[in-house]
Amino acid sequence: MAAEVGKKYVIIGNGIAGTTCAQMLRKNDPACDIWLLTNEPYPLYNRVSLPRFLQGVLPEQKVMIRSVEWHQEQRITLLTETVVTRVDTDERVVFLDRGGPLRYDALLIATGGWANKLRVPGVEGTNRIYNFVTLDDTKDIIAAALESKHAVTSGGSFIAYELTEGFNVRGVHVTWLMRGPYWLRTILDEEGGRLIDEIATHHGVEVVHGEEIKEIIPANGVPRHVVVSSGKQYPAEVIGVGLGLTLNHGFLDGTPIARQSGILTNEYMETNVPGVYSAGDVAEFYDSMIGRHHTMGTWDNALAHGRVAATNMAGGREPYVDVPTYTSPLFDTNIAVMGIAESNNPELTAITRIMPGEKGGKDYRKFFFKGNRLVGAVFIGSPKGRKKVVNIIQSGQDFATLAEREGLFAVR
Ligand SMILES: Cc1cc2nc3c(=O)[nH]c(=O)nc-3n(C[C@H](O)[C@H](O)[C@H](O)COP(=O)(O)OP(=O)(O)OC[C@H]3O[C@@H](n4cnc5c(N)ncnc54)[C@H](O)[C@@H]3O)c2cc1C
Repeated sequence: MAAEVGKKYVIIGNGIAGTTCAQMLRKNDPACDIWLLTNEPYPLYNRVSLPRFLQGVLPEQKVMIRSVEWHQEQRITLLTETVVTRVDTDERVVFLDRGGPLRYDALLIATGGWANKLRVPGVEGTNRIYNFVTLDDTKDIIAAALESKHAVTSGGSFIAYELTEGFNVRGVHVTWLMRGPYWLRTILDEEGGRLIDEIATHHGVEVVHGEEIKEIIPANGVPRHVVVSSGKQYPAEVIGVGLGLTLNHGFLDGTPIARQSGILTNEYMETNVPGVYSAGDVAEFYDSMIGRHHTMGTWDNALAHGRVAATNMAGGREPYVDVPTYTSPLFDTNIAVMGIAESNNPELTAITRIMPGEKGGKDYRKFFFKGNRLVGAVFIGSPKGRKKVVNIIQSGQDFATLAEREGLFAVR
C-alpha cells in the first residue's frame, strides 16, 4: 500500500509571520511537508529585541528565538541564504536562486520589507552608513559605534528613534534629523512631538527638525561630516537612516497576485489567487475592524497573521480580527500605539491631553474616533489602562458626547 502523501506547504520569509505559520501547520497537520525559505542566514530571531542588542543591554543569544535543531524536530525544512526569485502560480512552483524549484499545494508570502537606502552624493563608496532591520545590520552598527564619537540619524519614525537611542546609550553624541515638524507625524501632533523632543534632548540628543541629509563628506572611506538641507554641517563618523521600508513583493511580477503597497488579502489572509496567502508586514489585509485594507508593521500583528494563515491554508476558515498594538520603550519612558491611530486620516477625529505622570514625568494620551466609535489610541508615559482601551476599541462602544470621550483620559 502506498504511503499517504501529505500536503506541501511553501513559506517565503522566516520572520515571526512565516515561522509561526510553519509551527501551526505542523501542529494541525502531522503528515504535511513544510518548506520555510529565507535569504537571511539565521533561524527566527526577535527583531523587536534588536534595539536592546544595539544598546548592549541584551546579548545576541537572547535575540535568537528558534534554533536549526528546532526546525529539525518540527520536521520543517529551513532553507537559509536562499532567495525566491520568481513564482509561477499556474504551475504552483517557486523558483530559488540556488536549488529548487519547489512545487506547492499552498503558498504563504511573508517577506516583510527591505529598508530604503540613503541616496545622496557621498554615499557611494562610503562605509558606516546603515539601515536598521536585520541582525547583521545591528552587528555592523555596533562595530561602527564602538569606533565613533559622533553619529547622525535621520528619519521621523520608530527606526530612526531606535538608532538614536542605540548610539546615545553607547555614549556616541547623536544629532537626530527629522524632515518634518515632529516625530511620528502621522500619529502624534505638535504637543506629542514637543514631548518627544523634550525627552530626547534631556538625554543629550541634539534634535533638529526641518532638515534632511543632502550630502556625506567622507574621509578614508568613512563619513566625516553630513551636509543638511540648509547647508549646515554636522560631524558624524557613523550614520543611521530610518527612511521607511519597501515591501518585498517584486519577485511576484508577472503573476496575477493583486498588489498595492503590499500584497492584497481578504480577512482570511488569502490573496486573489487560489492557494496563495500572505501575512505579516507585507500583507495589505482587509481589516474588518475598520472596513478597509491596510498594512501594519507590528510584531503582534505578524504573529497573529501567521497563525490565522496556517489555519486557513490547512482548510479552516478563520478571519483575522484583532486590534493591533505597537509598544516600545522610549528612552526612559514608553510609547504604545493601539488600533488605528492616523492623524492624517480625514475620516477620524481625535482628542489629546498631556497630564502629570509618575516620577515627575508626563503622560500623553490621544484617542482616535471614527464617527462615535473609538478606533485607536496613543499613550506616551504610563502604559496603565492599555488593555482596557484595547477592549473598548474591540467592543465598538459608542462615545457620542465630548464628556464621554474625555472620560477615556481617566482609564487606568
Ligand atoms: C529594529 C526594529 C525594531 C522593531 N521594534 C518593534 C516593536 O518594538 N514593536 C513591534 O510591534 N514591532 C517592532 N518592529 C517591527 C516588527 O519587527 C515587524 O513588524 C515584524 O518583525 C514583521 O515580521 P514579518 O514576519 O512580517 O517579516 P520579517 O520579520 O521582515 O521577515 C521577512 C523575512 O523574509 C525574508 N525575505 C524577503 N524577501 C525574500 C525572498 N525573495 N526570498 C527569501 N526570503 C525573503 C526577509 O529577509 C526576512 O528575513 C521592529 C522592527 C525593527 C526592524
